[in-house]
Amino acid sequence: ELGRTGERLGMAVYGVGGFVRDLLLDIDNQDVDITVEGDGILFAETFARQHGCRVRSHQAFGTAVLVLPTGGKLDIASTRLEFYESPGVLPTVERSSLRRDLHRRDFTINTLALCLNPDRFGRLIDHYGGQKDLREKMVRVLHNLSFVEDPTRCFRAVRFEQRLGFHLEPHTEGLLRTAVRMGLVERVGGKRLLGELTSILREREPLPAVRRMAALGLLPFIHAELRFGDDVEHLFAESERALAWYELLYLPTPVEAWAVYFLALTDRLDSPKYRETCTRLAMPGRWLQRLFGHRHRAIKHFQALRQGLRGGVSIANSRVYALLRNIPIELLLYGLARSGQEELRRLVSHYLVRLAHVTLLSTGADLHDIGVPPGPSFGRIKERLLAARLDGEVRSRDDELEFARR
Ligand code: ATP
Repeated sequence: ELGRTGERLGMAVYGVGGFVRDLLLDIDNQDVDITVEGDGILFAETFARQHGCRVRSHQAFGTAVLVLPTGGKLDIASTRLEFYESPGVLPTVERSSLRRDLHRRDFTINTLALCLNPDRFGRLIDHYGGQKDLREKMVRVLHNLSFVEDPTRCFRAVRFEQRLGFHLEPHTEGLLRTAVRMGLVERVGGKRLLGELTSILREREPLPAVRRMAALGLLPFIHAELRFGDDVEHLFAESERALAWYELLYLPTPVEAWAVYFLALTDRLDSPKYRETCTRLAMPGRWLQRLFGHRHRAIKHFQALRQGLRGGVSIANSRVYALLRNIPIELLLYGLARSGQEELRRLVSHYLVRLAHVTLLSTGADLHDIGVPPGPSFGRIKERLLAARLDGEVRSRDDELEFARR
């Protein structure tokens, strides 16, 4: 259908990049990238009108996102060719413009394009030897200055290599190592660096890629003192276990696995260095507030729990609740991964399953009616009531009101 719209508009339409790569590797990829030779926005809007899709256009980039009725998404880009200036010589301009577009890409395996127009449907465009490198399982740059042009490609190279079980082509590895030696990655802005790091940590199995980043000398660009060793290996394995354990609890709160791995990776950094890392990566304020900014508190509270467990007496529910509430799930799993203690796991699961959602049976109005004055003491009384309820000292609304009266 995309090809037919293209045909009607006189534009060549291609599936490109990761989508074609994965198609040839027989890997499922729902992220379809389309490149149109011509006005991509006009193409997207025409297609959307004809097929009842929603469309979001970005005029400045000549790109659009098509949201299909099924919920799937298609990214549409233009090759930015001088389409209107030379419609008469379309066929040659067409090919060269696609070629130029593909030339900007990172690795040969991402330069394949699949024509979708009906007259050439399924024809594979391979200007840079992408098929051969797919067969030989090689990640290869298109030219010697690739990593200089964009040093984030160092991280991308590692990601594709490890995900696909490929190898860096030897010359490419040499270029990457040179880029590292020259400190080029230092120039990468925090936001882009964070983007590449999260992409790596979002991989199904991030550990091999982290190991490889370390071997290639990429970790110090995240923080000069970031190291990789047996302790990180161990913590990643424990994080994976904690994540698997959490999944089996079938709780509704979703978890960002990459964030748990990020905490594992930076575990050895003390608080100031951890904060420097967050600054280097231009960590968005909302992430700091919601999650990463709470690392110190989480570590302290887990220490308190461990001490409590060492005491031998059981820890009151209200104490567990006070220590764990407001600690985001990712930090709870990080805390578990660091300790690896079975007893602690039981406590956290008890908290998540039984305690976290306990609420009072009496309402604010009830408390008001029995004469609890509004103001700060109101909140304190509610806290004490909740603690009593968590510890089983009150069991009904009447118990609660009786307790509050006292
Ligand atoms: P994934 O399966 O992880 O989504 P992908 O190949 O689709 O892999 P993206 O990061 O989504 O990867 O990028 C889409 C395409 O854009 C890539 O195939 C690549 O050709 C191109 N690309 C992305 N980033 C760069 C870059 N820094 N330099 C050159 N090309 C890039």
